[in-house]
Amino acid sequence: MTTLLSYDDAIAAFDPAMGLEVHVELNTATKMFCGCPTEFGAEPNTQTCPTCLGLPGSLPVVNRKAVESAIRIGLALNCGVAAWCRFARKNYFYPDMPKNFQTSQYDEPIAFNGYLDVQLEGGEVFRVEIERAHMEEDTGKSTHVGGATGRIHGASHSLLDYNRAGIPLIEIVTKPIVGAGARAPEVAKAYVAELRELIKALGVSEARMEMGQMRCDVNLSLRPHGREKFGTRSETKNVNSLRSVERAARYEIQRHAAVLTSGGTIVQETRHFHEEDGSTAAGRIKEEAEDYRYFPEPDLVPVAPSREWVEELRAGLPELPSVQRKRIQADWGLSDHEMQSVLNAGAIELILATIAEGADAASARKWWMGELARRSNEDGIELAALPITPAQVARVAALVAEGSLNDKLARQVIEGVLDGDGDPDTVVEKRGLKVVSDEGALGSAVDEAIAANAAIADKVRGGNLAAAGALIGAVMKTTRGQADAKRVRELILERLAAQG
Ligand code: ZN
Ligand code: MN
Repeated sequence: MTTLLSYDDAIAAFDPAMGLEVHVELNTATKMFCGCPTEFGAEPNTQTCPTCLGLPGSLPVVNRKAVESAIRIGLALNCGVAAWCRFARKNYFYPDMPKNFQTSQYDEPIAFNGYLDVQLEGGEVFRVEIERAHMEEDTGKSTHVGGATGRIHGASHSLLDYNRAGIPLIEIVTKPIVGAGARAPEVAKAYVAELRELIKALGVSEARMEMGQMRCDVNLSLRPHGREKFGTRSETKNVNSLRSVERAARYEIQRHAAVLTSGGTIVQETRHFHEEDGSTAAGRIKEEAEDYRYFPEPDLVPVAPSREWVEELRAGLPELPSVQRKRIQADWGLSDHEMQSVLNAGAIELILATIAEGADAASARKWWMGELARRSNEDGIELAALPITPAQVARVAALVAEGSLNDKLARQVIEGVLDGDGDPDTVVEKRGLKVVSDEGALGSAVDEAIAANAAIADKVRGGNLAAAGALIGAVMKTTRGQADAKRVRELILERLAAQG
């Protein structure tokens, strides 16, 4: 059992430094160095060729689109773009790497020295400096069979799928992030979130973390306050959700602090993050760069993007997320606080998509930030992972707008969709959730309520309009909530005025 120091005690004694390495899988049609397709989900080993299998005599060719994506990412991150750079071989033996080296970039990355400003809760902006963004290729995928855990330990054999081998990756590496103090985990999460938005806005990847299209390695080390040098770092690998990035950083701060205060030493190693309890566990002892025996790739020509091309790409960058957010906040008329909640909920895109499906901004925001945010909290899953689409939310909003549903019924329809009962219209049908708009039926319900509550009706007649609430309540009860409360109120007042 690993001992942890409480987070507050850890921060009181130590200053954290983080380095974040994010791998992004590009959405090019073909692989980084060959013409194999990159489509996900094909039969194992059907998307391979001599080049991505590393067969002798095969020669790689650089994917121009991948270089373009890399440059655009670099520009969006305020980086310089190399006028000339090369690929390098990163040598290591692992079964999922058919060539026994990864074609990557080492001391000559395509993009370098940038920054990304991230907004923290409360509005403060924290600048994360970018060391480099470089191009490389993904590995294949191993599946360990026969064990209980899916890990190699206890497995009887392993299967290898090289469809993913050679898919273009961009690795984005920050400079050491210092000065965030207690907010370091929050900065880590905000940075990865902002980077993900940026990547999606550029259209170079869907950046879906749960599908491994974007994964983050969290390097962390501590120094006692007042000391200049940071301690040994640990590297938590392949963290694949925003929440996990934050938790991993937090856990490592507490773990390092416990080891250091008890007089122990931190080992430089990779660690695995455990989703279930937010802990990390030791992996392998980390190699140093020299262990990889990097050397320039002799089979590829250098990449030398012309300045004209780079400027053309710069001019073609889309509106970046931070700019877009400011515009949206103004368009929707939201306070800073309201905007922050929308952002925290990860709802911007969902709301935009719902508006694109025909809903107005106010109701799109209302449903995503209300009922759906509540459900996502309750179920502990991200808003976007809820089993409801923006089109379905827009349909619910439309049914409310046309008066077929009131808010209460709309919430039940949403619940039905989330429960897997089908589209909003199907749920309405199945569960009989329609506003009672039959004026006759509504009228008799109103008459009944008035007859049964004569004393209250008298008060309303006498001018006490607030008392009408009890009558509305009675009607809603007999119609099982399926009446339009506004219409019921109108009917009650009409009738009582007529009788008065
Ligand atoms: Zn290939
Ligand atoms: Mn890498």
